[in-house]
Amino acid sequence: MADKDGIQTQRGPYQSPIDPVELDLDSVFQFRCHKDIACFNACCKNIDITLTPYDVLRLKRRLGLSSSEFVATYTVPFAMDHHDMPGLKMATKPQTTQCVFLNEDGCSIYEDRPIACRYYALGSMGVRKKAASDVEDIFFVVREEHCLGHQEPDRQTVAQYRQQQGCEEYDQANRTWREIILKKRSGGPAIGAPSERSLQLFDMCSYDMDSFREFIQTEGFEEVFDISDNDKTTIIEDEDKLLQFSLRFMKQVLYGERSIPVRQGAKQSRLRRHRAGS
Ligand code: SF4
Ligand code: SF4
Repeated sequence: MADKDGIQTQRGPYQSPIDPVELDLDSVFQFRCHKDIACFNACCKNIDITLTPYDVLRLKRRLGLSSSEFVATYTVPFAMDHHDMPGLKMATKPQTTQCVFLNEDGCSIYEDRPIACRYYALGSMGVRKKAASDVEDIFFVVREEHCLGHQEPDRQTVAQYRQQQGCEEYDQANRTWREIILKKRSGGPAIGAPSERSLQLFDMCSYDMDSFREFIQTEGFEEVFDISDNDKTTIIEDEDKLLQFSLRFMKQVLYGERSIPVRQGAKQSRLRRHRAGS
């Protein structure tokens, strides 16, 4: 489903039948998924999962891989919009539409499954309502034919379901990223295409914490940004904090939203260095 103003966290084929009813946290819906249901794992056999930065972080950590190893082995790149904003899809097994992490017992990375898998059979979308500064989440039911969970009698609110599925932590960790994407989309055509450098920065800050960790230890970064040694050590040693810092950094560089202190005279000293050819 296409929506130029929202970011979807939805799993399933592009043509998923979406209930045309907008849900909020207190809305009640009928659904239950469990191991004994006849359709168990049917939903993992035909996937279209967009990965978020926190999905990538959780999965690369679980698998003991570097960011670049995880991205190269388990994801497929795609363009998130007509300006080629870099996105990642979960890879499928060769010549199939099955998730690469599906095995005979089900999901082999269940505790670290992506946010789209956690929400299903709900979809979620971040929207910025006119004149509002914060991103608001809206939800909807995805009713696919193969999914028998809709016939189970269990009813719950969206808030209860999110809690059961561990969605809150993921949404929280991805919030700034979603704001960045929404801001780009709501800028409209007048904003123009991002530079090649901005696209590379988006790629690194979203999906490559190993490179970003190295980047913030370079002379060029230290020359411009004023971060105490203590704060830097904490960020470098804690990947969750590193991701949050990376997203803040991206917001600052792409949109000028100042939350990371800049050294006085940083611009001039960079210029001097460039002129000197170092
Ligand atoms: S009930 Fe739906 S979500 Fe659960 S296994 Fe079946 S198809 Fe997948
Ligand atoms: S990550 Fe797990 S739950 Fe999600 S599609 Fe793959 S096997 Fe299914």
